[in-house]
Amino acid sequence: MNNVTITKEFMVHYAHIVPNAYCEPCRTIHGHSAKIAVHLCGRVDNKTGMIMDFKQLKEYISPVIDMFDHSVILNESDKHAEYFYKNFERVLLLNCDPTAENLSTILYKEINDVLLTKIQSTICSVFKVDFWETSSAYASCTNDYDNTACITKSRFTC
Ligand SMILES: [Zn+2]
Repeated sequence: MNNVTITKEFMVHYAHIVPNAYCEPCRTIHGHSAKIAVHLCGRVDNKTGMIMDFKQLKEYISPVIDMFDHSVILNESDKHAEYFYKNFERVLLLNCDPTAENLSTILYKEINDVLLTKIQSTICSVFKVDFWETSSAYASCTNDYDNTACITKSRFTC
């Protein structure tokens, strides 16, 4: 029985404000095209030669990824949060600033929750989620996180 890691990548485009950022441009609303890499670790099935079919993995994870794509992602305590929540079609409010670190943690938790409802944890599990905010900067979350970052409210009308 082999333990192997498989990775599926996704792209999302989003806008955010990082109110506690060190630099002024990050405290203003701006956008990113982010790459998300989801790494699963598991046993290779002797019959299929796979941990999980990539197409199946994409089907399971896409609803989570879609929440982030073309959304405005804000800290619920941001002074602009209520305005965006009331007036924009796709908004995610968090209990923390929408940094790459927090977004990788939230994605890890959301993807892990989805996969636990779809597959047995003995077959495979989420090993790591990388969130590439830019082509040269990313954060990773593994299963030993102690971050309480989460989505508190979401609005999707389109
Ligand atoms: Zn940014």
